[in-house]
Amino acid sequence: KVKESGKNDCMLYSDSWSNSSLERLTLQHEMYRAIQRCEFVLHYQPQYDLGSGTMVGVEALVRWNHPQRGMIPPGSFIPLAEESGMIVQIGDWVLEEACRQNKAWQEAGLPSIPVSVNLSIRQFVQNDLASKVSDVLTRTGLDPKYLDLEITESMTMDVSHVSRCLLDLTELGVNISVDDFGTGYSSFHYLKNFPIDRLKIDRSFVRDIQQDPNDAEIVAAIIAMAHNLNIQVIAEGVETEGQMEFLRKHKCDEMQGFFWSPPVSSDNIEQMLTPGYV
Ligand code: C2E
Ligand code: MG
Ligand code: MG
Ligand code: MG
Repeated sequence: KVKESGKNDCMLYSDSWSNSSLERLTLQHEMYRAIQRCEFVLHYQPQYDLGSGTMVGVEALVRWNHPQRGMIPPGSFIPLAEESGMIVQIGDWVLEEACRQNKAWQEAGLPSIPVSVNLSIRQFVQNDLASKVSDVLTRTGLDPKYLDLEITESMTMDVSHVSRCLLDLTELGVNISVDDFGTGYSSFHYLKNFPIDRLKIDRSFVRDIQQDPNDAEIVAAIIAMAHNLNIQVIAEGVETEGQMEFLRKHKCDEMQGFFWSPPVSSDNIEQMLTPGYV
């Protein structure tokens, strides 16, 4: 502990430092418990075809329903989960739950659409990702074409390993999407080396499409390039009609964003999928 004679600055620094590492440890411990107690829930955000306006997919987004702290958004615990490695267990649960739920919607007679699941790079480091996915599909009975795996660009990865892994996954028949496209370190590298079905234009490019001519050019170019490579394009974070019109004009395939729907509960998705829903 800091000496009494120490100045306030030093004390404050020291205190806030220990507080935050204590906080981290507490959260990590609670997260470990949360995995056993199944405190995680999935919300789903609809994805729409820009031409027809129909819902053509949903993205599963995890939340932590903490008994004392309430609903914690992924941004507040995923980084810590990645750091501690617990993202692997959480990710396993997310994958299984998303597949189970999607199969349940299908069995209820609702239109079949793919569910997108976010994967952490930590899940690729394991050697058995493809066989894990295959097991989950078998267990839940979900047809692989209704599963889409979202991967993000990351600097620290072994390209040949990830490439092998993605090929194995593709062979299973699942789709691969590149999430947050344009924000990472190796966007083009991904397109060149990996079997990618779809890219998701990051929200940061979509936001100012109408005000910033550079963003408009970038988005238009990403869409055109992807299509030349036979890759589908979905825009993330669409919040306004103007953004949607721009994307439609430039032949973007799909969109996802608050303009049409934020992430919602599985019950809400069920309603939205029910024929006649407006
Ligand atoms: P992401 O995969 O890029 O997911 C999209 C995020 O953007 C979601 O935040 C969604 O609520 C938000 N969003 C969607 N439309 C709009 C919009 O129009 N405007 C704005 N401002 N935001 C919009 P969320 O649910 O808080 O998730 C944040 C991130 O956490 C995700 O970004 C993803 O990277 C990560 N994440 C979520 N679930 C999982 C998971 O199961 N596993 C892993 N590894 N990461 C996850
Ligand atoms: Mg995503
Ligand atoms: Mg994204
Ligand atoms: Mg994003």
